Amino acid sequence: MATRHVIVGGGTAGLNAVQTIREHERGESEIVLVSAERPYSRMVLPYYLGRSIAESHVFTATPARLAQLQVQAHIGRRATSLDTAANRLTLDDGTVIEYDDLLIATGSSPVRAPVPGADGPGVHSFWTLEQARGVVAQIREGGHVVLVGAGFIAFTILNAIRALRARLTILEIAPQILPRMIDGTGAGIVEGWLRRHEVAIRTGAALTTIEEEHGRRRLRFREGEDLLADVVIMATGIRTNLEWLNGSGVHVRRGILVDDHLRSNVPNVYAAGDVAEGRDLVTGETAVHAIEPTAMEHGRVVGANMAGRNVGYRGSLLMNIVEVCHLDIASLGAWDDPTAEAFALARPDRWAYRKLLWRGDRLVGAMILGMANDIWTTNDVGMLKGLVQTGNGLGAWKGHLCRNLFGIKQAFIASGTTARLLPETLLGQPSVAPGQVL
Ligand SMILES: Cc1cc2nc3c(=O)[nH]c(=O)nc-3n(C[C@H](O)[C@H](O)[C@H](O)COP(=O)(O)OP(=O)(O)OC[C@H]3O[C@@H](n4cnc5c(N)ncnc54)[C@H](O)[C@@H]3O)c2cc1C
Repeated sequence: MATRHVIVGGGTAGLNAVQTIREHERGESEIVLVSAERPYSRMVLPYYLGRSIAESHVFTATPARLAQLQVQAHIGRRATSLDTAANRLTLDDGTVIEYDDLLIATGSSPVRAPVPGADGPGVHSFWTLEQARGVVAQIREGGHVVLVGAGFIAFTILNAIRALRARLTILEIAPQILPRMIDGTGAGIVEGWLRRHEVAIRTGAALTTIEEEHGRRRLRFREGEDLLADVVIMATGIRTNLEWLNGSGVHVRRGILVDDHLRSNVPNVYAAGDVAEGRDLVTGETAVHAIEPTAMEHGRVVGANMAGRNVGYRGSLLMNIVEVCHLDIASLGAWDDPTAEAFALARPDRWAYRKLLWRGDRLVGAMILGMANDIWTTNDVGMLKGLVQTGNGLGAWKGHLCRNLFGIKQAFIASGTTARLLPETLLGQPSVAPGQVL
């Protein structure tokens, strides 16, 4: 009988797994995909919000493409329980699906700050396509949008809100914006830049209630003046979609703990993407990296292993990159490790700031911000990623970099980092074009 692979979740991790199984398998297998939503990319929702792409462009697999991949799809259905002893998955309509192996790739959901009124009308999350549609329908030119939470996700939709010519205020309870992405010095530069672009920012803002007032929202704070908003978007964090695994015997910590083959403690159950707690490339510890590159890599590695290959994973690199009003902001690896040796240089006149973090002569993390049209910012983000990813000892080039934080290129080239990166492959062999047989 053909092996039956069951994939739960049709996001980035799930779909990459499906495609990779079909690329790498040697025999015929059945693939069953169960997904609460149609497959689409959350990461492109900000472009849909800003009207630079149509809604049809967010989808990552049409029904025709799924049929071509010979996928039996249960779209719009939720997994509700998993019996790992009997290898059976139950869906919300009572359907029971048996499997030989199973991938859990159910992603995350947004969490709203626990304040009265946070669930009321006119208050939105921005995580799913359905939620994006709700925001698209409400934002008007000249209207006042208040973003609650100044983290990465809020920053991904900032340009779109400005493109719709809405007035924007960003609130953050922490003393600085982007508290989990950049340090205080970097945040100071970004705040100055945003104020210059007429984005109002309130840090240390403890929201206490959101009330309805003649069709608008009144936001009250522990201290400071109220705000009146037309649209409130809560970007106050996410949680993994794992509650349906209660009683399954799958070990969950911050996410599902996986080994270097992305298997959970149950050998024929894998996890990938936002729900997986896997190896961090830099620290070697386990971590949840709720970012697109990790979901893609996890999905590919699991797909190859489900197809019968034996692929280990080195670990994922934490990396957040966002551009606001033409200012690039990026941090990667152990950018906030207080025990690492750090060298930083700010050039507020150029809206630029860089910080490099070291263990011995190995670059383990970096933070960089600068103008997006400054070619050095864009190139240097890529080169810093390469330096951290390869984990090369940089020898005397460390001294050069610490004295000259804008001289990344020389160190990158001289240390032979390109030569180390070029042969690297995720699955131990070159990728193939869709449809090409290995
Ligand atoms: C607005 C926005 C912008 C972003 N921008 C970036 C960015 O610039 N860079 C970056 O790296 N990351 C970005 N991200 C994060 C990135 O989108 C996620 O890390 C990525 O989508 C994770 O992929 P995943 O496959 O693990 O989960 P998801 O893509 O969330 O997919 C999970 C799937 O599982 C389904 N599901 C959930 N529960 C069940 C269930 N019980 N049964 C069946 N199906 C279920 C869901 O419906 C969904 O289809 C952004 C996210 C958002 C919302």
